[in-house]
Amino acid sequence: MDVMLQKDELTKVTFTPPLYKQRYHFVKQLVSEHKPKKVADLGCSECKLLWMLKFCNCIEVLVGVDISEEVMKEKMHTLSPLPVDYLQPSERSLTVVLYRGSVAHKDPCMLGFDMITCIELIEHLEANELETFPEVVFGFMSPTIIVISTPNSEFNPLLQTVTLFRHPDHKFEWNRAQFQNWAQEIAARYDYMVEFTGLGVPPPGKDVGFCTQIGVFVRKYLKHVEPNICEKHQDHVYKTVFKVVYPSLKEEKYLRNAVVNEVHRTAEIIARRLWNQRWSQYKKHYNDPVETEPQFQSHRCFRNYLEYLSVPEPDSASIQPFMNGNTAHIPLVKIFSFPKVKQLCGNYETLRRFVAGNIALSSDESAVVIVTDYEDDEQKDFADMS
Ligand code: SAM
Repeated sequence: MDVMLQKDELTKVTFTPPLYKQRYHFVKQLVSEHKPKKVADLGCSECKLLWMLKFCNCIEVLVGVDISEEVMKEKMHTLSPLPVDYLQPSERSLTVVLYRGSVAHKDPCMLGFDMITCIELIEHLEANELETFPEVVFGFMSPTIIVISTPNSEFNPLLQTVTLFRHPDHKFEWNRAQFQNWAQEIAARYDYMVEFTGLGVPPPGKDVGFCTQIGVFVRKYLKHVEPNICEKHQDHVYKTVFKVVYPSLKEEKYLRNAVVNEVHRTAEIIARRLWNQRWSQYKKHYNDPVETEPQFQSHRCFRNYLEYLSVPEPDSASIQPFMNGNTAHIPLVKIFSFPKVKQLCGNYETLRRFVAGNIALSSDESAVVIVTDYEDDEQKDFADMS
């Protein structure tokens, strides 16, 4: 016997993960397939879908629109950059904007999008808003892809719905034929293709369709969008509620910081390696009475030892790091040969430009200089022995 078909069970159909999460995941999947750069979520409510989408690396502009400023404001802080975004800026640029506005009104800010999502939105629209919605979203915004999800009323008898609709604010709930007729008529009118799918499968034997029905519309024609088209228009009706530009390596100040940090890190590693070599040599001398010269018999003279081992400076074209006394010289050419540094800078001249004035360099600016005043546990032990 199929347990899902028992009367008591039927009143308690639930989904794992919850359906709203499945809807977000569905959109995320579409984003990873189509790699849109500009994405808008209409009826974004508490910005939960936007929050998930901000982690999609292809997206450079992420916009939320809702008629309710209050509901957006509740969680909009979750869209702000975290300290780690400043510490490790991403390669891509990302701007997140929230507008208070209606999907029944045209605003030039909504032009030029690759993907627009309307998740559980249309059933909240008043009749007059639903009437203008297709012209605004398909006709005016006309993005490459539009995703519309809405409840399937045929599934309702299987849910614990006590009222007529699943939510008190719903103005209608459509069955599959109603939704598909509406969607196909709009697709034909605005030159889109539409495919239907859904989420939340019914129990076996119940031919009611998915709990959430979804239409994915893809524009049939190519459209040229002028860059910065939004700024060129004056007639804005949406109100900007939130705008944040994430730190990105595309901005010179963040790239410069990242390069300086990486050069510092690389130079420190090399300097430490040079110093360790010297320290091992010194220990060897110290432990060998034949080799050891009297002036190096104490850890206090490690500095003298370093001076003693100093070699004449190689010419500035050399790529080899060297120690001069307790100062390590690490040629920039050497540092540039490290893949991470090369990837960040692109070319050697950029590296020189970014480090100049930000890192201690040799007088001819060809090498990073680091004073190696390290002391590690082993050295302390060694000092105690003497
Ligand atoms: N899309 C959200 C999600 O999946 O988490 C939930 C959407 S919620 C059920 C419907 C949202 O549509 C509400 O936040 C409501 O304020 C918004 N809304 C209603 N009428 C609207 C309109 N004319 N224009 C824009 N947003 C509208």
